[in-house]
Amino acid sequence: MAARKPLIAGNWKMYGRAADLAQIGALAEAIGGAGEKVDALICPPAPYIAQAAWHARGKPVLIGAQDCSTVADDSARTGEFSAAMAADAGAKYVILGHSERRQQHGETDALVRQKAEAALAADLTPIICVGETRAHRDAGDAGRIVAAQVRASVPETGAPVVVAYEPVWCIGGDRTPTVPEIAEVHILIRETLTAILGDGANQARILYGGSVAPRNAGEIFAAEGVDGALVGRASLKAADFSAIILAHPAAS
Ligand code: PEP
Repeated sequence: MAARKPLIAGNWKMYGRAADLAQIGALAEAIGGAGEKVDALICPPAPYIAQAAWHARGKPVLIGAQDCSTVADDSARTGEFSAAMAADAGAKYVILGHSERRQQHGETDALVRQKAEAALAADLTPIICVGETRAHRDAGDAGRIVAAQVRASVPETGAPVVVAYEPVWCIGGDRTPTVPEIAEVHILIRETLTAILGDGANQARILYGGSVAPRNAGEIFAAEGVDGALVGRASLKAADFSAIILAHPAAS
């Protein structure tokens, strides 16, 4: 089986302006040849996807969206955009089911799965986010919750998907699970994907997300089953994000 190419994705959330897209060029310059060995991805706010793709042209930086509609066809959906529109603007990936969307917009596993199906139909690779709350982890329920989210959110098509394991209690703070805890959940996600996708699961990359920073990226990347990272705050500045990318063993 060919090794999976690591993916290190930046989620800019609702931060930044057009001037911040210059970080894309700075990132490409900072990672240099490592961009051939690791997929570096930036997901800016939707209004900037096309401009971001323009900044990334000819550079080893991919552009993605942070969400898309469940509906594939052009239709009367004020304020929404389809996966096909994101792809047309230059996106290659789309983050789906981030815990902020699950919490703030009531997104369910079934809805995330519908969005993932729409993404795949538009040739976008979905990055499907799953993760337990602190209460679930304290109750010893993290694995059961995460496996159930994967089973209900991942389409059974066998197409390439990415799963991001993002413990909700680690996002936006400075805590992470221990390296063995991260490995345990990643191994469980791989087993769950195999049950859904069969051999197709071998292609699926599983990312860790939640307070990844230059100081901890190396040890997280060394954890068994970790194929890369989904990074929030530390992806906004090329200096931090490039340090994370360069901390991946495949980058050297
Ligand atoms: C995220 O929001 O996906 C995330 C991982 O954020 P942070 O890296 O800031 O914890």
